[in-house]
Amino acid sequence: MNCPGHVQIFNSDLRSYRELPLRYGEFGSCHRNEPSGALHGLMRVRAFTQDDGHIFCGEDQIQPEVTAFNGQAMAVYRDFGFDDIVIKLALRPEKRIGSDETWDRAEQALRQALQASGATWSELSGEGAFYGPKIEYHLKDSLGRSWQCGTMQVDFSMPDRLGCEYVAEDNARKVPVMLHRAIVGSLERFIGILIENYAGALPLWLAPVQVAVLTITDRQAEYAREISAELKGAGVRVIADLRNEKITYKIREHSLQKLPYQVILGDKELQANQVAVRTRAGEDLGAMSRDAFINRLQSETASRR
Ligand code: ZN
Repeated sequence: MNCPGHVQIFNSDLRSYRELPLRYGEFGSCHRNEPSGALHGLMRVRAFTQDDGHIFCGEDQIQPEVTAFNGQAMAVYRDFGFDDIVIKLALRPEKRIGSDETWDRAEQALRQALQASGATWSELSGEGAFYGPKIEYHLKDSLGRSWQCGTMQVDFSMPDRLGCEYVAEDNARKVPVMLHRAIVGSLERFIGILIENYAGALPLWLAPVQVAVLTITDRQAEYAREISAELKGAGVRVIADLRNEKITYKIREHSLQKLPYQVILGDKELQANQVAVRTRAGEDLGAMSRDAFINRLQSETASRR
């Protein structure tokens, strides 16, 4: 458990069972004094941001919460292009807190949650934390390497230590269970994984710059500005390259940057009020109307592919 800040808002008022599950989310800053030899690109850094979330719930809510989380995590991985997800369930270690009955119920709740999601998983006996069992989500990238990103950790210990209580249906005071969950884990590392997975050629919806507008001569400069403004207005991330350089030089430079699309503007395009479009794969899509190009960008963005 590496959560930067455990939420204590729970304690500010006495809570009722009706308020559970209570879900908190934050992008938490983490700092770790990793030895300099262990630092590795974006994969291992000393300061990173975690997509952290904490859910306070009753024991009987573990299963529905975990099922909901599993669906959300899978949708996020799918959107980012990861279809090969390996799920592992880490079970009770020898040294632990909590009764065997509590562990039985928690482990069973996690199994049922995965089952309800139609997931397949493997079990790691003895590898859970002393305070509760955990589900791990490992992503496989395009080179077959495995990265642990998501976690769903059941915690029987922290709520008690924080003094969390709620009033149960029978008016008794009860200590809630806490679920620590992250989908991508470290945002920095996840960006590193994405860059590696796509070898820098991020899909259109993720590319920081989606389109470069290139002029062949100065005569198209005004037209290029107009097109850029129109694309920007349509929500496209665009740069205009109006430099007085050979068009082959410009094409090569933006191709090396792996920008998804290049728009080439010469006199012909200017006169026809069209755009000539190239993909980063070097495919020449020919001339098309501005609307046709914007439609293409928008449908490709929506498809997340
Ligand atoms: Zn936490």
